[in-house]
Amino acid sequence: MNNKKDFNKIVTFLKNNGFFFPTDEIYGGTQSLYDLADRGVIFKNLLIKKTTDFFLDLSDDLKFYQLDSSIIHKEDVFLASGHLKNFFDVYSECKDCNFRNRIDDLKDYFLQNNLDNETVFDTLLKQKKIHCLNCNSTNLSKFKKFNLMFELNYSLTDEKTKKVFLRPETCQGIFINFQNILKIFRPKIPFAILQTGKAFRNEVTAKNLFFKTKEFTQLEVELFCKKEDEENWFNFFTEKIFLYLINDLKISQENLKKYQYNQKELAHYSKKTTDIMFNFPFGWKELLGICNRGTFDLENHIRNSNSNLKIFDEETKHSFIPSVIEPSIGIERLMLALLIDYYEEDEKRVFLKIPFDLSIYQIAVFPLAKKLKDDAKKVYLSLKKIKKYRVIFQDNASIGKLYHKYDAIGTFFAITFDFDSLNDNCVSLRFRDSKEQKRISIQNIDLEIDKIINEM
Ligand SMILES: [Zn+2]
Repeated sequence: MNNKKDFNKIVTFLKNNGFFFPTDEIYGGTQSLYDLADRGVIFKNLLIKKTTDFFLDLSDDLKFYQLDSSIIHKEDVFLASGHLKNFFDVYSECKDCNFRNRIDDLKDYFLQNNLDNETVFDTLLKQKKIHCLNCNSTNLSKFKKFNLMFELNYSLTDEKTKKVFLRPETCQGIFINFQNILKIFRPKIPFAILQTGKAFRNEVTAKNLFFKTKEFTQLEVELFCKKEDEENWFNFFTEKIFLYLINDLKISQENLKKYQYNQKELAHYSKKTTDIMFNFPFGWKELLGICNRGTFDLENHIRNSNSNLKIFDEETKHSFIPSVIEPSIGIERLMLALLIDYYEEDEKRVFLKIPFDLSIYQIAVFPLAKKLKDDAKKVYLSLKKIKKYRVIFQDNASIGKLYHKYDAIGTFFAITFDFDSLNDNCVSLRFRDSKEQKRISIQNIDLEIDKIINEM
């Protein structure tokens, strides 16, 4: 069944609750770019940290190294990686409204109308049987190829230096540093390199908020192993990541499924790819991918750079090119899927069911009445001092309004200092999801909270 949540409503909700702003909004906005606002930044950083830790702790037999390489590489890198030759979108431009109709989107459109043979596209175009997806006109250009990389106007002092590009994926930085990593860290195979950073793709049309943007954050792992272990590691990552999404990020299992690409669908560098798909309100779409890149990248970089990117095997006394298994995660896309999945409405409120460790604020402290402000603030300051939780104090509205406001951004607990607190030295702890309340002692407040979390 399709995800029934109202996507446009969620987008408006996230904007109004400080998760994002459209880029360049005062100048009319720039298509397919978004700025993260306060809550979006906090959530993104927590998600990156949690996911990085998940990988680093995955197995005692697997040593990870981290990297933060440049987002700019010169042409040679992308000649070797195949991106200059193979990384294209194909589109037909509408002569009436200038909309660029991607062939992939037209395919969706034609599949729905049982016209699934793409070789007939140009004929259909000539016969004016293809309509613009934006304005329905049949006045369309021939199909054009369009490289998805951004070429930069880079000031070069060295005339031999060629063109430079923004990276379309983070992993090339890992492959071109492979020799350095071998030399400095002397890793034993299997080992993995993890990097998180921005990547850029000049998508012809991009839509659905963070689902597809021209600038995005990737978290990629390249695992280097022997050829005979490829399949094992591929399956290991696929299973572990699937469980991570369900058990740690708490995505509803019915909204996840795996999809293995058929031969025709594979990217130019891939031997095998499995996507984990999420049931977005706009359909089942790729959430993240696990790819067997084999020896494709290292082999090409060896050929083009004349570097030795081989590993010496102590057992067989031979050098070999290791195989690469790559889990690749678009962080903003994962954020979007999580926020959709956490989004809940009941009769009176909208709230985000964010797990405790990813909550933007884990605890909000409120006074029941104005005259209790100083006492409530003391409770807040004592919690803040422990530095264990992300905690906020607020007293600028009625208690009911404050509950709703902080439920909306997924605050896990609300603590209220009321008139009874003056006598029993306890406060009420309210659970976001059930709205149930429990009296807890101010004296050992963090121990009480820890106990409740451990029992959940
Ligand atoms: Zn048009």
